[in-house]
Amino acid sequence: MTDSAGRLTVITGPSGVGKGTLVAQLLQRHPLIWLSVSATTRSPRPGEQEGSSYFFLDRPSFERQVAEGGLLEWAEFAGNLYGTPRQPVERQLAAGRPVLLEIELEGARQVRHSFPAAFQVFLEPPSFEELERRIRGRGTDSEEAIARRLERARVELAAASEFDARLVNGDLLQALAQLEQLMGLAA
Ligand code: 5GP
Repeated sequence: MTDSAGRLTVITGPSGVGKGTLVAQLLQRHPLIWLSVSATTRSPRPGEQEGSSYFFLDRPSFERQVAEGGLLEWAEFAGNLYGTPRQPVERQLAAGRPVLLEIELEGARQVRHSFPAAFQVFLEPPSFEELERRIRGRGTDSEEAIARRLERARVELAAASEFDARLVNGDLLQALAQLEQLMGLAA
């Protein structure tokens, strides 16, 4: 069994694949895991909270963070900027806590360079049609945003083989059990 203490795990996969739901379940079962809260220039969706869903920043503030080296990684996704605040992650890792990042492909690639020891998991949908159904089913994105996310999803899915592990998110509980096993967590 792997020792997950102080270890960085990255979960990536196309928008709509269910990363957020899977991660929420994982955290509920393993409260010691610390999930990084990202910064973004995207507008809040209904129900999203500043500081727990994201830190919602305007573009100049985000760019200032980038210039000051305050982000561990960052990327543009579907017209918005997203990034991981560096300091809290480093602090939690130093304290020996398992840390989780839920980010898109470009960011995961950056983390591969800056934290080669990080464990990187790619979450896949059972099919592209199912992914489209999930993105549309969320009902929060405009048609244009959906089109951009689907276009990006094709690029992301083509990169799945770069990752340490691939997980198909068909059945949530099954995916959760597999993730726990991959992360060396007792069920
Ligand atoms: P959403 O707008 O649906 O919340 O997120 C869009 C995409 O951005 C998702 O694939 C999500 O995982 C990714 N994302 C969220 N936070 C970050 C981050 O800090 N860095 C990077 N690179 N991607 C992120």
